[in-house]
Amino acid sequence: MATDPDCLFCSIAAGSMGVEFVYADADVVAFRDIAPKAPVHLLVIPRQHFRDVRELAGDPAAGAALLAGVAAVAEQERLPYFTTVFNTGAESGQSVFHVHAHLLSGSGQIWAHG
Ligand code: 5GP
Ligand code: ZN
Repeated sequence: MATDPDCLFCSIAAGSMGVEFVYADADVVAFRDIAPKAPVHLLVIPRQHFRDVRELAGDPAAGAALLAGVAAVAEQERLPYFTTVFNTGAESGQSVFHVHAHLLSGSGQIWAHG
């Protein structure tokens, strides 16, 4: 499994940062965002290193596992609704270049377009 020794989220997924997992399975881990933007703000990440969703798209099984992880976390945490965000590229606000789903809930509509 490809990991990057210089990547913060690879280190978190490996358990070496002491971050508590809200959810973990063979493919993904989820933990609380250090700077929450909503009452519930979790990050769901693959254990394997992918830079962003574009790179993740090259491994459809890993992409499906990440989405399954999002759904599993939401079910475990009994979230009746949630918003999922993937920032891609620094200009979008991506600051950690290990793909992560922001899973936000608990304050109604969080994001809208148009
Ligand atoms: P991005 O801006 O890349 O889409 O999201 C990165 C997220 O990771 C941010 O919301 C930021 O608060 C969170 N974050 C950065 N460093 C840490 C950390 O060390 N621990 C945790 N739990 N979250 C972090
Ligand atoms: Zn990584």
